[in-house]
Amino acid sequence: MKVAIVGFGKIARDQHVPAIAGSDAFDLAATASRHAHAEGLPAYHDIDALLAAEPDIPAISLCQPPQVRHAAARAAIAAGRHVFLEKPPGATLSEVVDLAHAADSAGVTLFASWHSRFAAAVEPARDWLDGKPIQSIRIDWKEDVRHWHPDQQWIWEPGGLGVFDPGINALSILTRLLRGPVRLESATLEFPENRDAPIAASLAMRTTDGAPIAAEFDWRQTGPQTWDIVVETDGGSLRLAEGGNRMFVDGAERSLPPESEYPALYARFAKLIAEARSDVDVAPLRLVADAFLAGRRTVTEAFED
Ligand code: NAP
Repeated sequence: MKVAIVGFGKIARDQHVPAIAGSDAFDLAATASRHAHAEGLPAYHDIDALLAAEPDIPAISLCQPPQVRHAAARAAIAAGRHVFLEKPPGATLSEVVDLAHAADSAGVTLFASWHSRFAAAVEPARDWLDGKPIQSIRIDWKEDVRHWHPDQQWIWEPGGLGVFDPGINALSILTRLLRGPVRLESATLEFPENRDAPIAASLAMRTTDGAPIAAEFDWRQTGPQTWDIVVETDGGSLRLAEGGNRMFVDGAERSLPPESEYPALYARFAKLIAEARSDVDVAPLRLVADAFLAGRRTVTEAFED
């Protein structure tokens, strides 16, 4: 099946292009982006031009910032195309619900992807946790924004999520590991005085059985970077490291297959299309929305790139 990429930025080049190249199900057929394109393929300035010129491309991957994704997704759905949404699936919860409704009405597949859920340790960890009473969960997601997001101004604008752009990856893993809902109790969000999105956040949550979950997201970490989730249970201690790609049980590392998040995402997209289904889980975005709803806002020093 032909697929086109819209928003040919970092994630499109780093992950989508190689994943599609290695996929049995998809061939990259075109791009739509204002300043970039894939060598040798039809290139359009925007999605409307792409949809008008390429009626035979049935699937579209949307890799722009979340603030502009809803309009593009509605256009693709209205044109009868299947849609892969990068994470987060939108800038608001209500627009994602709107997309799910529109895709359902149009009879096309909508896939709200969460790439971190396909990290190597996530499914083994979910299986290991099954049936073990949880005592507590601790998430530390701390990285250097200057290294990972240079010149990405959209990330600091309303709807760009700030530190929740990486933090939502941890929440996507958390909500996959647990078999029941997660509830946000309180949050503190630190906004640089010159920005509209937080640079750090602390979340206090609970599992449906009442176990505490503490999450610390921080974009000011230089040196070693931390993407860890530790789950203490009655049956031992589980640690996921490196964004869900390494797994330790009581300190001993488990051997896992190599990381293949984006190939797995495209395999999932192909399966959903074949089965004429959508997959739109807003649970990670709902926790972020709750943090903005209930969180205490503090102002910290200005951030300059
Ligand atoms: P990026 O490098 O800024 O690329 C996004 C592209 O979208 C831009 O290059 C731009 O291409 C296009 N675009 C369209 N409208 C835009 C607008 N109003 N403002 C800015 N760019 C616009 O961002 P990215 O890192 O690829 O991230 C894109 C999405 O993927 C985000 O939702 C992010 O959370 C997700 N993601 C990123 C990573 C990562 O490691 N970077 C990992 C996983 C997921 P043109 O100027 O050519 O139109």
